[in-house]
Amino acid sequence: MTPSITGEWLIASETRAVLDALSAQGATPRFVGGCVRDALIGRTVRDIDIAVDIPPDETMTALERAGLRVIPTGLSHGTVTAVSGTRSFEITSLRQDKSTDGRHAVVTFTKDWSLDAARRDFTMNALYAEDDGTVVDVLGTGLADLNARRVRFIGSASARIQEDYLRILRLFRFHAWYGKGDMEPDALVACAGLAGGIAKLSRERVGAEMLKLLAAPHPEVAVDMMAQTGVLSKTLPFAEGIPPMAALVAAEGRIGISPDPIRRMALLIGDADPVAAGRGLRLSNEQLKALRARGPLDLPITDAASARRAGYERGEAAARDRMLIQCAQSGEPLNTRFVSLIMDGAASTFPVAARDLIALGLEPGPEIGEALDRIERDWIESDFTLDRATLLSGITGRKRA
Ligand code: ATP
Ligand code: MG
Repeated sequence: MTPSITGEWLIASETRAVLDALSAQGATPRFVGGCVRDALIGRTVRDIDIAVDIPPDETMTALERAGLRVIPTGLSHGTVTAVSGTRSFEITSLRQDKSTDGRHAVVTFTKDWSLDAARRDFTMNALYAEDDGTVVDVLGTGLADLNARRVRFIGSASARIQEDYLRILRLFRFHAWYGKGDMEPDALVACAGLAGGIAKLSRERVGAEMLKLLAAPHPEVAVDMMAQTGVLSKTLPFAEGIPPMAALVAAEGRIGISPDPIRRMALLIGDADPVAAGRGLRLSNEQLKALRARGPLDLPITDAASARRAGYERGEAAARDRMLIQCAQSGEPLNTRFVSLIMDGAASTFPVAARDLIALGLEPGPEIGEALDRIERDWIESDFTLDRATLLSGITGRKRA
């Protein structure tokens, strides 16, 4: 029986407006890629890709005629973005890659669905659906592979990787999100042999791709295989050995927190400098800040005082993540009691302010800042037990002397 998909996104009037505009031009639009794949296995559909059997200039004309906003996102490779209501759609003309340089392709447009399917990366990504939701498995193996959760290159893995080295990282990402069981041996052999080609990719791409991979609920097999094939060290220069990702994921599960790509990235960074590592991947300032907060602690969390201290210094989420990373690295069992101690530390407020020191006669200026830092350190070292009066008595004592 031919499967078919449905979903709110498929019947929405904004979607119908795009399909109608293309059909009115005499074209056959079909959904393709992630939306078909995800709808088939009951996952939330995020972005909608449409393939169409007319060249991109005609796509633009059709959409404009229908009064839709068109953005020529990637005309040279056949992609335009249509904005319909609050939704946007990536519409790509059927195409064939004529020549490739390891990342970009020179393309020709075609009316042949099987040529378009063949230039795609994995069989599960070459599934199309008609405008009524009827699925078309143009290559004939996509549905079976999707059902078996088998991420398989279309054609020879090594040939497909040499056309575009990003496919190495996509293979591991798609395995993390869609794969079950072992990865395909010949794909792994090809990745191992061609890992050097990752150097051709822009660092932004690599960073973005890795974060997508690490956001998967279970990225551990993919990360393991990346390490074993030598892909990981070519992707992340700081990554060493086989990172204990399975241990981190298990620890996350024990305390019931959701996957977080930055937390997992911090594990891969290990003891290297998180800011330098993050900059190397062109991460955003916000991501860098989160990564730094999850970096190595001067005093690892080993007891109540160090747990509270980490909570105070790093904040609740970052300190908790650091604790999970530390457990994964050491192989020691997770002490869940530390979670509430970290929360206590994060909720502590330093009881002394600059105005207290001024009231005691200290001159406003750098002296105050230094004194505050010193008192804060004493307070932290007392495991947050010294009260305001005691902390300030230290200051007056020092002043009198
Ligand atoms: P998602 O959007 O959920 O990440 P997707 O499968 O839709 O997954 P996109 O990157 O949006 O991925 O690409 C859409 C489709 O274009 C893919 O399903 C695949 O068919 C094709 N594609 C994307 N990137 C490549 C690539 N580097 N090589 C070959 N085909 C690709
Ligand atoms: Mg997509």
